[in-house]
Amino acid sequence: MGSFLIAGRFMLTMTGSGIGIIENGAVVVEGQEIKEVGASSELEKKYPGLPRLGGRDKIVMPGLIDAHIHTGIALLRGTAQDTKNWMQQGIAPFKRHMQPRDIRLGSMVNIMEGLKNGTTTFADYDFPLDDIIENYLEIGARACLASTINELSPGMDKLKIGELYPLDESIGRERLAKALELIEKWESRGEGRLTFLLGPQGPDMLGEKLLGEIKDLSRKQGYKIHMHVAQGDREIDQMEKRYGIRSVPFLEKQGLIDEDLIAVHLTEATDLETRLLAEKGAKMVHCPGSIGIIDGLVPPVLEFLQAGGQAALGSDQAPGNNCNNMFNEMKMACVLNKVKKGDPTVMPAWKALRMATIEAANVLGLENILGSLEPGKKADLLIIDLNQPTLVPALSHPVRNIAPNLVYSARGNEVETVLINGEIVVEKRKIKKVDEEEICREANKAGVELGERAAEDILSSANEMVKMMEEGYL
Ligand SMILES: [Zn+2]
Repeated sequence: MGSFLIAGRFMLTMTGSGIGIIENGAVVVEGQEIKEVGASSELEKKYPGLPRLGGRDKIVMPGLIDAHIHTGIALLRGTAQDTKNWMQQGIAPFKRHMQPRDIRLGSMVNIMEGLKNGTTTFADYDFPLDDIIENYLEIGARACLASTINELSPGMDKLKIGELYPLDESIGRERLAKALELIEKWESRGEGRLTFLLGPQGPDMLGEKLLGEIKDLSRKQGYKIHMHVAQGDREIDQMEKRYGIRSVPFLEKQGLIDEDLIAVHLTEATDLETRLLAEKGAKMVHCPGSIGIIDGLVPPVLEFLQAGGQAALGSDQAPGNNCNNMFNEMKMACVLNKVKKGDPTVMPAWKALRMATIEAANVLGLENILGSLEPGKKADLLIIDLNQPTLVPALSHPVRNIAPNLVYSARGNEVETVLINGEIVVEKRKIKKVDEEEICREANKAGVELGERAAEDILSSANEMVKMMEEGYL
């Protein structure tokens, strides 16, 4: 870590209500933080001796924030696609056979993928998290962590579709205790790169008593609640069977809907429910790629935004979305919502860029340190190469085409250098602190072995991918 002057032909500061662009701008980084932002000609005069990064053919912008990701299940990438019962018949039979090493290796693969494509903050939502946290520390990325809390007993993946999940409060209590221990153990580590949220898995996956206690804890200790809400018809079905009420009205009755709730997905939320959440200050995470592939739906993010809510984007998980790349999520968010409304003006590129940076920081409660290039914020930023075919031509006049090209054309491989906490973690597209090839080789091997362990369960089930494979489609 040191001091740098980072210049770019285009600098997206993400300040103000748009993308805060400065042409020929520069940012001065000192230690972990941004010291100054302005015109590169002025800053170059003011700081003549500083080492230079970036240049005339670069874009400089804040690092991207993936506001909802489960890196622990990355080894199941591509095992449950184009099917109806993604969770119970798709990934559950594999998941049962996962070992701690599979979680650790898969998670590292996911983090490498995100990092190389510009993700600097990962809102990771997993259990167990210790090994995953070690990955973040090893690679030098920032994580906003929620240890999954549920009351589901181990055999739950063998239930019939639609059967009520048996909840076991003692499991939930143990999970909550572990979540609190985890915070205690790790919060002061990683030079401020680790922050924490409370992660009840969903209103259908733990009882109302424990949910109430988590809410009290959140109020008392100031940790926000990161929770899947109305994430599918299976959740609404469980809620109606257990409580005779849908998820959002249930959460309202429990006093859980306020500015400390980060509601993920809202796939099944009605217009009224969506508005209620936004008006009460709850935040939303929109995962367009994952929900599109798993459910064939587009969640009501436009309605949420229209009601004054703040939303972020998330890649969710490799077995559902297949990729964990925020350039993919930005494009998906724009295209799917345009198609849903039959209107090319909805969800413009600048909005997706905000939802992956400054608005995501707001959603996670990290707006004081992340999301924009401003003095005093952490130096998490990207240097993007304009000399890549996907970003050619780069125009300033008569219209500037940078925001649309970043969202609709770039795929992530244009990200050349990544700084997190003032430290260069990716240089010339190479991750500095881990051996990418070695990890991919080991993860591939572990994936094949996991497949072998799960084979009997998969082949003897009604798995739709097995059938597709027999018919020559896979
Ligand atoms: Zn999720």
